[in-house]
Amino acid sequence: MNNDRHSRRDFMGLAAAGFAGVMANPWRWASPPDADLVVFNAKVYTMDPALPRAEAFAVKDGRLVAVGTTADIRALITKRTQTFDAKQMTIVPGFVDCHNHAGGTTLLYETLVGNPFEVEFVTIASIVEKLKAKAQQTPAGMWVDGYFHDDTKLKDKRLLTRRDLDLVSTEHPVCVHHRGGHTSFYNTKALEMAGITKVTPDVPGGTYDKDANGELNGRVTDRARGVIDRVGARPQYSAEDRARRERDGMAHISKQFVRYGLTSVHHESGDLQALQDVRARGDLRHRVSYEPSGRVLESMINDGIMTGFGDEWIKFGATSEHTVDGSFSERTLAMSTPYPGTTYKGNVTETQETLDAWVERVHRAGIQVNCHANGDVAIDMYLTAFERAQKAAPRADARPKITHCTLINDDLVRRMKAVNAVPALFTTYAYYNTDKFVFYGEDLMKRCMAFRTLLDAGVWATAGSDFSPGPFAPLMGIQGMVTRKGWDNTTWGLNQRVSVDEAIRINTLNGAYASFEEKLKGSISEGKLADFVVLGDDPHAVGADKIKDIQVVRTVVGGTTVYQA
Ligand SMILES: [Zn+2]
Repeated sequence: MNNDRHSRRDFMGLAAAGFAGVMANPWRWASPPDADLVVFNAKVYTMDPALPRAEAFAVKDGRLVAVGTTADIRALITKRTQTFDAKQMTIVPGFVDCHNHAGGTTLLYETLVGNPFEVEFVTIASIVEKLKAKAQQTPAGMWVDGYFHDDTKLKDKRLLTRRDLDLVSTEHPVCVHHRGGHTSFYNTKALEMAGITKVTPDVPGGTYDKDANGELNGRVTDRARGVIDRVGARPQYSAEDRARRERDGMAHISKQFVRYGLTSVHHESGDLQALQDVRARGDLRHRVSYEPSGRVLESMINDGIMTGFGDEWIKFGATSEHTVDGSFSERTLAMSTPYPGTTYKGNVTETQETLDAWVERVHRAGIQVNCHANGDVAIDMYLTAFERAQKAAPRADARPKITHCTLINDDLVRRMKAVNAVPALFTTYAYYNTDKFVFYGEDLMKRCMAFRTLLDAGVWATAGSDFSPGPFAPLMGIQGMVTRKGWDNTTWGLNQRVSVDEAIRINTLNGAYASFEEKLKGSISEGKLADFVVLGDDPHAVGADKIKDIQVVRTVVGGTTVYQA
């Protein structure tokens, strides 16, 4: 098998382009593979430079065993082969999301006051109604929470206030959580229970916001929320119930991922046991690169477990994001210049010394380092720490991961290339969050989510939705990368546009590279895992503004259909 594959590679090298009809060569197999599945009559964009386009492929034991023309691959059909006539539909490799918080229990069990998956404008009245219904089933004094709020997706075109949430209840503390994770909105009862009044001073790294009359408006930012979240009661679950909820949440979000065509997702920590239980019961539909933090990371370091440990379904990847600065969407990332029209330069949340020590410790343990660095100041700090760690403990091919890596400059790109950093940039933001780019302005946006610059420099740029702050739909991400145009029809940083093929590669092969799995997945190539997505339309052929609306017809992982429209 190996020899055959190599001789084919050589042949492909010579054949160079397009459909090379090599499959019919009888010398290829001593006995042809008894294919489990043959997919034919498709427009396959393989993302494999050796054979960029194909019409068909065969799957055996969860892997791709042959890729080529319909005529050639159909020859491999036997009595027991399942067949799929794609009727000229488009097939691409399964999409890879390199940064996702994968919060399934919230999606499944909590009250959602915004749309987690799409741009949808809601009314303040609808938020109040949903939370009122929740309050009616909640004992007085216990929290009533709403999730997935987005302050710029309200039809009312104003911020949610304490007064609005007083309409939900005056007996319960009420909290509406912004999907970005850095701000929350409370009712009067919640603020009273925490003893917050209009004269309460702000805390370092957090604010109690006021209205024009100096009254609390209910919006509380970052670290100021701690004191409020400690009052009141939330439901307590037995260990057994908690485990069940974690399992069901994991199974639920796995279903959502494959519905959008994701076949591999990098999880920012989460319940490792639930993940394994869900897999054991057959409900894990996507593959997981598990990014550890806290206790799990500590035990890896202490017990010598390195990146790459695991199997094709659940594998330890880089660390979870170690945060160096603030948020892009909530406008606190650390920049070398002030936010336009202000003197504010964002929040650095780590000292260089602490960062240096953390990076070196993880790097020495053989674990892929991963830091959340949004602004140019934070990216510089991270690269400085990594360059230092490499000098102290050189390791070939370490691929330091940069989560977000939003605002770059030429010097940073040069240094990223030098250490072969893998940045995971925001993807859906280019479509979803244009309403927030005005805080940065076009000059800065030319250097934000800089896919064009990074690809041109030879950096393996990847896609990181950052769900729940960002929706995770890869097709929405691809549309944004290709058009740099938002839901509101404004465009930002058009110089960073990439082609449809480049955007697909970023969301597939480059994602596999980020977790050292480029030989295992990320393209439709012989020997790789049979992870692919069937699309109702060709993203190259529909208008670029319609890519996000293309239907995911079928998602296949390891040759098994895990989603069907
Ligand atoms: Zn994140």
